[in-house]
Amino acid sequence: MKLGAIDIARIVEREEPAFVASRLLPDATPEGLAPHRHWLEPNALDPATGLFILPIQTYLVRTRRHVILVDACLGEGKSCRWHLPWHKMAGLPYLDNLARLGVAPSNVDFVLCTHLHGDHVGWNTRLVDGRFVPTFPNARYVIARRELDHWTATNRGATPEDYEECIDESVLPVVEAGQALLVDGDFAFDDEAWIEPLPGHTPGHMGLRLRSGGAEGVMIGDLMHSPVQCAEPDWHASSDFDPAQARVARRRFLEAHADTRTQVLTAHFPSPSVGFIRRAGRAFRCEYLT
Ligand SMILES: [Zn+2]
Repeated sequence: MKLGAIDIARIVEREEPAFVASRLLPDATPEGLAPHRHWLEPNALDPATGLFILPIQTYLVRTRRHVILVDACLGEGKSCRWHLPWHKMAGLPYLDNLARLGVAPSNVDFVLCTHLHGDHVGWNTRLVDGRFVPTFPNARYVIARRELDHWTATNRGATPEDYEECIDESVLPVVEAGQALLVDGDFAFDDEAWIEPLPGHTPGHMGLRLRSGGAEGVMIGDLMHSPVQCAEPDWHASSDFDPAQARVARRRFLEAHADTRTQVLTAHFPSPSVGFIRRAGRAFRCEYLT
C-alpha cells in the first residue's frame, strides 16, 4: 500500500487460529464474546475451534530516505516453550519474501522493535555456525531504552522463561554487535516516520507515526491484539505488563483516532490488518481497508 510517498508492505510469517480466546484476553469468555461472535467470525475468531486468529507479521516501510522493518516476527530456531508450534521453527520463507519485495538483508536501514516480546524480535537475529547474529548487517535496531532495561533486569532474575530466552537469542546479540539504537521516546527516522510511546503492554512499548503527502498512518504494535478490543476497549491482554496503563493508552488512542483519516496499522488484527477507527455506539470498530 501507499501512504503519500511511503511504500508499505506486510510480510506475514503465520496467520492461523492460535489461541484460546480467554487465554489471550481474559475477558473474552464465551459469554463475553457472545455479542461479538457474529462479526468476529470467521476472520478474527475461528468458528470451528473458537480460537483467535492472529497474524505474526513485519511491516516493510520504505520512506523516501529509509528502509525500515517494523517488528521481526518469530524467526527461525528460536525458543518458545509456552507455545510449541512456534518453538524452533525452520525453513521459513521470510527472507525470500523480503527479497521478492526487492529488499536484501543488507538494504535494511532500521529495524524498529515496538517491544521485546518473542513474536516481534525473532528475525532480529539468525543462527550462523551455532551463534545468533544480526540478520540485517547494516541496520540499526531501534529499541526503547526503558524496554531493554526492563527485560535485561528481568533476565538477571530467577529461572529464565520464554520471553527472556528471546532477549538472549534475539535482542542481546544485536546489542553486543553495537547495532542497537536505544531511544527515549522522541526518535524520528526522518520527516516521514517517527516513534510514539504507547506504554502499557510493556514498559517501553511504542508505535510508529507516518505522515507523507497529506496522508497519515500509525502502527500500533500490541496496543490491541484483536478487533474485539475496539468494541471492548477495557479488555486487556494477559500479556499486558500494566493492564491499567494499557487500558488508558487504548482508550486515549481510540478516542483520538475515531472517525479520522488516519490509517491504523495493527500487528495482530487479521488480514488485511489495516483500517480506520470508527465510532460505534459507546465504543468503536475497525473498518478495514479493502
Ligand atoms: Zn505481539
